[in-house]
Amino acid sequence: MTTLTHFNTHYIDGQFVESHGQETYAVTSAITGEQLGEARLGDDVDANLAVAAAQRALSAWSATTLSERAHHLQKLADSFGAHREEMITNLIDEFGTTTATAAYIVDQSRDWFLDAQKLLSEETFVEQIGAATVYKVPVGVAVLITPWNGASWFMAMKASVALAAGCTVVLKPSERGIWQTLPVVDAIAEAGLPAGVINVVYGKGDPVGNILTTHPDVGKVSITGSTATGKAIAHNRVDTMKRVTLELGGKSPTIILEDADLSKAIPFAVQAGLFNNGQACIAGTRILAPESRIDEIRTALVDAVSAIKVGDPRDEDTIVGPVLDSDQYQRIENYIRAGIEEGGEVLAGGEGHPDGLEHGNYVKPTLIAATNDMTVAREEIFGPVLALITYRDEAEAIAIANDTVYGLHAYVASGDVEHGRRVARQLRAGRVMVNEVIDSPAAPFGGFKQSGIGREFGQYGIQAYLETQAVFAK
Ligand code: NAD
Repeated sequence: MTTLTHFNTHYIDGQFVESHGQETYAVTSAITGEQLGEARLGDDVDANLAVAAAQRALSAWSATTLSERAHHLQKLADSFGAHREEMITNLIDEFGTTTATAAYIVDQSRDWFLDAQKLLSEETFVEQIGAATVYKVPVGVAVLITPWNGASWFMAMKASVALAAGCTVVLKPSERGIWQTLPVVDAIAEAGLPAGVINVVYGKGDPVGNILTTHPDVGKVSITGSTATGKAIAHNRVDTMKRVTLELGGKSPTIILEDADLSKAIPFAVQAGLFNNGQACIAGTRILAPESRIDEIRTALVDAVSAIKVGDPRDEDTIVGPVLDSDQYQRIENYIRAGIEEGGEVLAGGEGHPDGLEHGNYVKPTLIAATNDMTVAREEIFGPVLALITYRDEAEAIAIANDTVYGLHAYVASGDVEHGRRVARQLRAGRVMVNEVIDSPAAPFGGFKQSGIGREFGQYGIQAYLETQAVFAK
């Protein structure tokens, strides 16, 4: 077992402090299934200490000038950069993402701080509307709750704009992502922001999450996690009217239109569906194909999914690595079984480990011919499992795509990008990508319906940490 330095500590008030909570959590490797370490989780005392530290630091931090905030964001970017290799290694070890994806996640984690610097202009914080001067003031202590599928990315994305807005923060990373978080907390500590401006407390939803999301001194909660957790937090915040940003689950459609060029549409659909080993909220896990071309699409998808190299995520040619842990493995296997029991046809992959990969949490990339009412088409699986659904005409494709409680993301493949855009505009999803998986980190991100409330990234992201105050003083 590796010796771990910070396994029993939170980062509160500018220091590593020993956890008051005694509950332990076994951290395991996605690659081997072996235990990497044991973490001590926080309790109500740790959570309250973190909020108190953030509350004490709030008035001084919210009074800093924009150039002082820019300076501190630069220090965070630099120290994230200095911990790059360790962040990549821990991310791969713990949740099995490939080296290329891990590098993207970690580099963007650093870049969030640089992106936030660009928002530090007067226009972000003051606006004239008629007789009113509208000032944007920090909402207060912000609690930032993050998932395990790329911890550094979510922590940096949320903290960068919260800090830029003038909020102090308490980060609560997922208990299932602590190994990834260790170098992140080292980077935060080494950036040397004033004590209490950024705090990190480990713990489960109960008790730590519940304490943080009901605490009277917390002004804002931003969570990225499952829809069930988002609903619990939405209930928790009511009594104190905390502002919330909820970034939740998805069951995104990829519509292959009749005019699509399959040499491009199939790799696009597979990439959208299996990014991050399928452990992505934005995964396009429902592939919608026209009846008129179903035979060629089915054949091409079977060939593409069957050809995917599953293996050690550290190998350059691996496309799909293992999933997080044995619970996640079992959850995915249960969904594949449910797909079969409900009448779905396994076209590629299926139950069990891939040959030669019996150790670790390896799942076969799986394609199931299904209908949109089956469990595999309705519930978020969070693994490399794709449902192939046939539609008769474009109107039905749009109806099926929108027939979900989620609305985070969607993908459209078309031979004509304007045709793709017209279909995209009819989808109830916060982001739609036509023909290409691309990103613009300043464009808004967030979900319709039960995929969440609010938007993150860029101006939309920072405004979620600001209250408006209209002052009429002629
Ligand atoms: P999860 O909901 O189990 O946990 C997310 C976080 O919430 C963790 O830190 C957890 O400890 C915390 N939590 C749980 N109960 C809580 C409570 N009552 N109060 C406060 N905090 C609580 O999700 P996960 O398994 O870590 O992540 C996977 C989920 O996250 C998937 O549903 C995925 O779609 C979603 N996700 C969404 C986005 C997005 O941007 N919309 C991005 C990534 C992941």
